[in-house]
Amino acid sequence: MDDCIFCKIASGDIPADIVYQDEQVVGFRDLNPQAPTHVLVIPKKHIATLNDLLPEDEEIVGRMVGAAREIAMREGIADAGYRTVFNCNEQGGQTVFHIHLHLLGGRPMTWPPG
Ligand code: AMP
Repeated sequence: MDDCIFCKIASGDIPADIVYQDEQVVGFRDLNPQAPTHVLVIPKKHIATLNDLLPEDEEIVGRMVGAAREIAMREGIADAGYRTVFNCNEQGGQTVFHIHLHLLGGRPMTWPPG
């Protein structure tokens, strides 16, 4: 997608602080971190929202979760714990329409989320 900021990060057209990359997904630090560790894991494939997932995309979503696990280990937050979040559409708080898994850690999380 030409006008998608996360596609441009995945292709290297705009810079990001990339902490993880494999053939299907990229992980990079959020520009406006909400926790000491705040990484976004995105698929290289453009998928606008969770509502747009196709059955064949399930492997990609599994890869995103696996990448979040790997990053949590590398960041040293795995044992203490962390939160993973997908926001979907307006009421879910989604502002960038290329799916992304937030990985948040390094502080206690509260529940329910706002
Ligand atoms: P969401 O509100 O779930 O759509 O999350 C979008 C996230 O993307 C927000 O936490 C933003 O701070 C983050 N974000 C937007 N643009 C960039 C960027 N260029 N690099 C890193 N993070 C970004």
